[in-house]
Amino acid sequence: MSDSHQGSCLCGAVRFRTRGALRGVVYCHCSQCRKQSGHFYAATNVADADIVIEGSESITWYEASSFARRGFCKACGSVLFWKPGDQDYISVMAGSFDRPTGLKGDCHIFVGDKGDYYSIDDGLPQFEKSTPSIPVAE
Ligand SMILES: [Zn+2]
Ligand SMILES: [Zn+2]
Repeated sequence: MSDSHQGSCLCGAVRFRTRGALRGVVYCHCSQCRKQSGHFYAATNVADADIVIEGSESITWYEASSFARRGFCKACGSVLFWKPGDQDYISVMAGSFDRPTGLKGDCHIFVGDKGDYYSIDDGLPQFEKSTPSIPVAE
């Protein structure tokens, strides 16, 4: 029960519930994540089998690359999901979870593409692109 989390988009049309421990939050500063979110991505990962999504008819999926799509609420615009086509997990935006999330920052990726108006000074590991353990769009 303590390993159950839930969240939603801003308007509530899309809701989700997850089961099990959540991965640390990865901050992605790539240009796709910057443009879509307006800043940068902060996401955890959940196995497909451990998430139930309600209101999926309200999700618009945008294929920003050949192997992943980005899901957002078509009513309120909340960025919610990043889904690689050939993997059995889904990335879920940390900010869409209801508190307390229990989430902690893990690392920054694609810092070589980050916006030029902020600095990263939280002491977490930074990677120019990705790390082998984190498959991402490029
Ligand atoms: Zn919404
Ligand atoms: Zn990214």
